[in-house]
Amino acid sequence: MVGGSEKHLRAAKNGFDMLLDQSFATGGWGPDEMLQTPGSGKVFASLAKSHNSFETPCGAYAHMKLTRYLLRCTREGRYGDSMERVMYNTVLGAMPLQPDGHAFYYADYHSQSSTDNAADTAGTPNDVLGSGGKRVYSVHRWPCCSGTLPQVVADYWINGYFHEPGAVWVNLYLPSALRWSEGNAKIEMELEGAYPETSEVRLRMKTTRAVSFALKLRIPAWADGAALQVNGRSVQMAVPSGFATVQRKWRTGDTVKLQLPMKPRLEILDEAHPETAAVMLGPRVLFALASEPVMASSAQALAIQQAEGGEWMLQSANGVVKMVPFTSVQSQTYATYIRVT
Ligand SMILES: [Zn+2]
Repeated sequence: MVGGSEKHLRAAKNGFDMLLDQSFATGGWGPDEMLQTPGSGKVFASLAKSHNSFETPCGAYAHMKLTRYLLRCTREGRYGDSMERVMYNTVLGAMPLQPDGHAFYYADYHSQSSTDNAADTAGTPNDVLGSGGKRVYSVHRWPCCSGTLPQVVADYWINGYFHEPGAVWVNLYLPSALRWSEGNAKIEMELEGAYPETSEVRLRMKTTRAVSFALKLRIPAWADGAALQVNGRSVQMAVPSGFATVQRKWRTGDTVKLQLPMKPRLEILDEAHPETAAVMLGPRVLFALASEPVMASSAQALAIQQAEGGEWMLQSANGVVKMVPFTSVQSQTYATYIRVT
């Protein structure tokens, strides 16, 4: 940013791609706090071996910084997609910091499939935690993650929007109001909606005078069939580099409605294990609340049904299994990955 060095930008891009190559469906990475060689199968192997899958507050803080700077430098939506994925699936589900310094540290993606057997030997943490994931506090008081959790939370507000003369970029669809000046106009843009619980995002403009600027909206790569309306009229949308642009003269009362349709999809962790998949809906992973390995056909996994209270139901081979986003996992044992038959 300071020196305009192409070399440093390329290093940051390469670093991001290296992380992406070894990321879980949640966007988290680095089981046991180690970067793994892409393609080595070690991230997959960690599912059966480790409960220390992603160092959540520190990792999310680092990931959000990296993606925020890459987004600023490149204006490519893929960095925003990645930031959003890490936010909803990892740090937003971290347990609150305790007054005595106990903090949430590792997200646990342990997902023992029915074919794993002797992988867990005596003396490993699995003897304590068993198979499947659990949300637990670190045994340490005031660990690194007790510092980065408040830092990452404080940064939520600098991740949502970006501004340059003549354009405002919306990266995260957080209910909020953005105030800024464009030439002589003072503008307030209100963002509403329950995204990602629902697929609709609404924006409303208030401005002291009519003013031209480009509104740039991030369209996540998964949002097939995304649609845009301005003042109730459908607008043709092109999405170069992951952002749609509405360029016009804005007036008070102008509204924008964005639909980001969410269809269930499966995401595998490792090409060598296409049977092990996470169920995704929009930016979020749905975690299966079960202490036994969950098996389902891909048709069953893609036909999950929404139930009351932000839950989904999966008709699995062993009966109905409840699925929830990470923010709704309480003390239950869960599987991040299911076995698709
Ligand atoms: Zn940490």
